[in-house]
Amino acid sequence: MGRIRVLPDAVANQIAAGEVVERPAAVVKELLENSLDAGATSIRVEAESGGRRLLRITDDGCGMLNDDAMLAFERHATSKLSNVKDLFAIATLGFRGEALPSIASVSRLTLETHAKEETAGAVVEIHGGKMIRNEPAALANGTIITVRDLFYNVPARKKFLRSDQTELAHIASLVTHYSLAHPDKSFELRHDGRELLNVTPVETLRERMFQVFGNQTLEDLIDLGAHEKEMLVPDAAEEDRTRVFLLRGFVSRPQVQKYNRNSIYLFVNGRLIRDKLLLHALTSAYHNLMPAGAFPFALLFLDCDAAEVDVNVHPSKTEVRFRHGSWVHDFVRDAIRNTLVESRPVSSLPLRQQPEAQPAARLPFSEFSQRMEDARMRMAVPMAVPVNDASGVSEADLPSFTLRPTHAPAPRFDFTEPPPAPTPVVSAPGKMRIPDTHAALPEGALIDGAESLDVLKDLRPLGQLHESFILAAGRDGLWVIDQHVAHERILFEQVLRERAAGKVELQSLLMPMVIELTAAQQIQYAQIADELRASGFESEPFGQRTIAISAAPAAVGAGEIERILFEILETAEKELRGASLDEVRRNVSATIACRAAIKINTKLDQRKMEWMLAELARCEHPTNCPHGRPIALRYSTRDILRGFHRI
Ligand code: ADP
Ligand code: MG
Repeated sequence: MGRIRVLPDAVANQIAAGEVVERPAAVVKELLENSLDAGATSIRVEAESGGRRLLRITDDGCGMLNDDAMLAFERHATSKLSNVKDLFAIATLGFRGEALPSIASVSRLTLETHAKEETAGAVVEIHGGKMIRNEPAALANGTIITVRDLFYNVPARKKFLRSDQTELAHIASLVTHYSLAHPDKSFELRHDGRELLNVTPVETLRERMFQVFGNQTLEDLIDLGAHEKEMLVPDAAEEDRTRVFLLRGFVSRPQVQKYNRNSIYLFVNGRLIRDKLLLHALTSAYHNLMPAGAFPFALLFLDCDAAEVDVNVHPSKTEVRFRHGSWVHDFVRDAIRNTLVESRPVSSLPLRQQPEAQPAARLPFSEFSQRMEDARMRMAVPMAVPVNDASGVSEADLPSFTLRPTHAPAPRFDFTEPPPAPTPVVSAPGKMRIPDTHAALPEGALIDGAESLDVLKDLRPLGQLHESFILAAGRDGLWVIDQHVAHERILFEQVLRERAAGKVELQSLLMPMVIELTAAQQIQYAQIADELRASGFESEPFGQRTIAISAAPAAVGAGEIERILFEILETAEKELRGASLDEVRRNVSATIACRAAIKINTKLDQRKMEWMLAELARCEHPTNCPHGRPIALRYSTRDILRGFHRI
């Protein structure tokens, strides 16, 4: 007898499960896709203990015929394909016929289903791939699949599962994003009996976004509208020569930055995928609008002829291959880029408010949506004083600064001097009065990356506008520089540099500063204590819920220490859940830089302006502040000449 054997189905199914069923969220993905393929209009997902104890998906789709209920668990049993030709134009989400047998081989699965064509439904129960029960039952139309004790018979797999919260986060993200892909359907998600998401049908994607994320988040996003473009396929038959591509969705304004790709969701023909090509197209669209290493939020829906995209690339169907990849890449990049440029998110003077379209009726959204908003949309909240916003900063908060003698290689503003006489403020503190004539001004162009670096070195300060912006003459035109964000960028890079070199400049406090923390703050403090120490905050626990700070970063004014610390802890609580150490570090540094930077409505003399421009020219990323806001606008000599009709 030879040595080669055909594996029994049970083994083959478990092998397939290894690829298809990576974690509870993958089960949800397969079952949800089945429900959508079955034409369901209402889908409920229930989970217990992060999905390991129980997952149940209930739909009102077409249900399965009694004969099919058993067959569905055979390997490669599917109602969605019948021949090889179908493989090249797949219109359903599923097609491999692998999900149900795979899931049933690593869990205790119950299927309850009833197709309206038949008088009764069927219940099928399978434990670890073994049939336990198969009998008729009186059931409502549709399908309920219950998956209990996932991986109970695959201990090795079970070990790889993360905490319930992490597994739940994956499930929640998946259900949320499928709900965004189908605004016309109801979705419900419950965990341990608690409702996390519940959305009713609406007409537009925008309304669904509103249901899920709320208004706050929508304001930070740009609606791409519908970009349609025809592609010509020269080698195709005459009547089949044009292929239409349609791109819709939402992308974030460039000032909204993420430090990883977790907020990018790509759907191709309704299927949630990961795709390097589309990801690259997206990031290229933001080229020079965002610092390197930062990512936008994006929810993209690309629809095209099924023949243009091969979905049969990976067992979990999370990857695709485009037939005309580079065309698709450029189409997506240009569509997004054009929208970004049109909406002028940063390049126009940041004084005009874009009128926001009001979503129709405000629909109730649960606590979950708030949490999703916090977690998903971890915006780099502008902690800086917004130019056109009353910030509540009082005069006394304005930092004092004097310039040190220039012997030091990197001079810095010194905040330890007593405050000067209050700076005259144009209107309310922190708020600027903007002359109405600004609308008549030509719009400055946002400086962009490589080109600007060199030009910055030659900038000559001419004066200040509203004691908030430095006007400077450059080789190539007139520059307007936001003094607060420029200083913020300078300090941010300095803090990171010092931090990397392990040489953070400290100021020791004569008397330790005792600060009382709330329970929540204490938890955050414990989590980031090391990072705080490395950034220059020396502190020790001091009694219950109290800490004593003995030193702080030198850049921070003494009066600011407590506030900065609270701000860091607050950011940590809201934004750093699950963040990497690097993100924590950048956030701590950004908060320090923002707080320590000079504010708007602060007079600068010639030497300070020169110092600022010289330091900015030395920055690695002189175009955006750590939160992504632009630092400078430029009116090119060409534009000026054109404005005066000299060219
Ligand atoms: P695939 O989706 O690739 O066809 P699955 O193993 O996921 O393979 O499902 C097998 C078959 O079971 C499907 O082709 C479909 O006919 C049927 N099926 C699965 N889930 C449902 C459902 N929720 N409603 C109706 N039919 C379903
Ligand atoms: Mg399927």
